[in-house]
Amino acid sequence: MMKKILQRIILGMVLLLGFVALANLNTQSVQASNKVKDGTYVGTSKGEGGTLKVAVTIKDKKITDIKTVESHETKGLGSEASEQLRAAIVAHNSVNVDAVSGASKSSEGYLDAVKSAVKKSGAPLSMFMSKKKIALSKGLKKSHYTYDVVVIGGGGAGLSAAVTAAENGAKVAVLEKQPNVGGNTAVSGGEFNVPGSDIQKRKGIKDSKAKFVSDTLKGGDNIADPALVNTLADNALGAYKWLKSDVGVRFHKNELLQFGGVSVPRAVVPVGGTGNEIVQKLLTKAKKLGVKVYTSTKATALIKPADRITGVTATNTGKTVTFDAKKGVVDAAGGFAANVAMRVQYNPKYDATYKTTAVAGSQGDGIVMAQKVGAQLVDMKQIQTYPTSNPETGIISYVADSRFSGAILVNQAGKRFVNESGRRDDISNAIMAQPGHYAYLVWGQEVEKLGKTTKTYKKEFKTLKSDKLLYEKKSIKGLAKSFDIDSKTLVDTVDTFNGYVKAKKDPDFAKSAAFTPIKKGKFYIEKVAPSTHHTMGGIKINTSAQAINTNGQIIPGLYAAGEVTGGIHGTNRLGGNAICDIIVYGRIAGKNVTKD
Ligand code: ADP
Repeated sequence: MMKKILQRIILGMVLLLGFVALANLNTQSVQASNKVKDGTYVGTSKGEGGTLKVAVTIKDKKITDIKTVESHETKGLGSEASEQLRAAIVAHNSVNVDAVSGASKSSEGYLDAVKSAVKKSGAPLSMFMSKKKIALSKGLKKSHYTYDVVVIGGGGAGLSAAVTAAENGAKVAVLEKQPNVGGNTAVSGGEFNVPGSDIQKRKGIKDSKAKFVSDTLKGGDNIADPALVNTLADNALGAYKWLKSDVGVRFHKNELLQFGGVSVPRAVVPVGGTGNEIVQKLLTKAKKLGVKVYTSTKATALIKPADRITGVTATNTGKTVTFDAKKGVVDAAGGFAANVAMRVQYNPKYDATYKTTAVAGSQGDGIVMAQKVGAQLVDMKQIQTYPTSNPETGIISYVADSRFSGAILVNQAGKRFVNESGRRDDISNAIMAQPGHYAYLVWGQEVEKLGKTTKTYKKEFKTLKSDKLLYEKKSIKGLAKSFDIDSKTLVDTVDTFNGYVKAKKDPDFAKSAAFTPIKKGKFYIEKVAPSTHHTMGGIKINTSAQAINTNGQIIPGLYAAGEVTGGIHGTNRLGGNAICDIIVYGRIAGKNVTKD
């Protein structure tokens, strides 16, 4: 009996010690995982051909992208292997991945380089090591598929086109080169300009299609195609209703944003404050309708045996695959804001000194492919920057949306220099003209109460603070000290501005909206800089979303929608008009392609 009691006591102690050890281990890993800072880290290793360097982007504890910076691997096998590994690592958020058969040395080198980059983030490698080794996708079984409609690109435009084509009875494939769909749509704020929305009506805001058209044309310096803009205005409300009722996208019931250059609060906001809500609901709907989504499948060429586009050539795990499109192809491969060489080719101003808000897939593939089959390109030099991006990563800052609720911009001297409710391009140019090419946004609780950006984007807010790009202080003086700004000047600037708010008139920069005082603490100061954001130029289309060739005629079988197209936004796309564009023209392309 005594022996049994002793055994139980010993067992109990062992278990207790085990729990303590486990608890310690858990705390350690939580502490370690808290150390993971969003950022891009470069890692190096020895590949088969020499030094191999990769840049790994980590966001929200996930590996979101890997770019090869330097490689001397045998072309083909080396780069194909690394592409397969990259896709697997990103898709599974794990570096515990099988080597590519026939390229084991290259694979090892690549995985080592990624691991070395991960270590630099301060994260324990174990965070990115799945228990089970990830087997590489064997790729597509066949080298030839046939559909009614093939859509290139799984962003908002492509998915809208795919869903609409499927709703009209077509058998549809979406080709997406990344391991996941979403593109820039998913990382955007998802705001959608809808003239005449239910929310505007509830709030008593008077708006009209005509106002939408005139804002859009004027905002783009009147070089956009009025027919395309009119079609946008005519279909915006219907597209919003479709997203809500058919697709199931949830929008905030009482929130409306008024972006620079827009005459009234017009933008509805999806729940969650990003376009991911739209993408995920479109994806679910697409799958329900039987749309086949091929990820890690990169379209490389449009097939045009004679006059008509009959399909797409693509690559998947290094193999060439052909997708026949009986009715037609919708090119929705997005813009080229992340392609420095292409930016410079069309507008030398936007060289590598600009970071970008765009996802890595925005390389202009869809524009280049269409041009090769004779498409006419328009407005290619019109590249938009987003004025208030993270100055270190280039990524768009949503906390900085405080600007729309009245935050002011000051330079290093603590002085205002621009109308904060003006157009994106004007604000970006004004920031680029300041010493250091950056600025600070300043706001207090009155703005915060309206925009709630530090709460809505809590994660970003926390990261900005830990990266020392944003400070929260009790006084304006405290804000000034945080960034070594002369405190008297900043206090004067804020006082003067508060006087303008009272008078609802800004004699210095003619601020036109969001007159909100900056009197109540806590106050915030955030460092921001412009990044390339949206490329307004692209494939010329007509109001039926048909691609137009260099002779002004349609290219039979080829439709285009979204950022891959040009002519809708002129020199400058207004905030809230991109989502409008991709859903409206995605639907038009998706419907018309089924009629062919
Ligand atoms: P839009 O807003 O016009 O829908 P997005 O940037 O949201 O544009 O989406 C475009 C999508 O197209 C991205 O997911 C991108 O990865 C994808 N894409 C770009 N080039 C290709 C290509 N060659 N093949 C397949 N997908 C592509």
